[in-house]
Amino acid sequence: MELYSGYITKLIEELSALPGIGEKSASRLAFHLIHLPKAKVERLANTMIQAKEHVQYCKECYTLTDSEICPVCANEKRDHSTIMVLENIRDLAAYEKIGKYAGVYHVLHGAISPMMGIGPSDIKLKELLKRLQGEVKEVIIATNSSLEGETTAMYISKIIKPMGVKVTRIASGVPVGGDLEYIDEVTLLRALEGRIEL
Ligand code: ZN
Repeated sequence: MELYSGYITKLIEELSALPGIGEKSASRLAFHLIHLPKAKVERLANTMIQAKEHVQYCKECYTLTDSEICPVCANEKRDHSTIMVLENIRDLAAYEKIGKYAGVYHVLHGAISPMMGIGPSDIKLKELLKRLQGEVKEVIIATNSSLEGETTAMYISKIIKPMGVKVTRIASGVPVGGDLEYIDEVTLLRALEGRIEL
């Protein structure tokens, strides 16, 4: 026998498949949704569908954007010869929030992890190498200081250095295993300014 109605059970199932949502949170959310006015639920559902339909990868840096090219890549005042390589969009947001970085970005959407079976072809690395055929002077590797982040940084620098592009790594003021998005702005800025050439 089903504990709740079949619809509720299905809703809980769908919600608990989302990252970071356990079964308890999923039930709480499901009951919350059921108690909301229908118009509010419709608005939420529509917002999700619209985001899914309209958001796309920037053709240059692979961040998520509403247009073909994101505002950073489209900005001519940014230094397009300096590319900061990041693991995810949240890290990009962290650097943009400080407002002190004038270059452009490249989002890998992950990091190399032999243990998890994630290889170089599973992240946006090919796409980065393609960009280096243009006028790029420096690639700043700002992957996390976790094992995966360091592995990725080493792998990328090994490929890029022979291409004659300067490769730097953000300073290790960033705590080991620390996710960039949780680090305060001063530490983040110091890590960027104190970057070392690989
Ligand atoms: Zn972009």
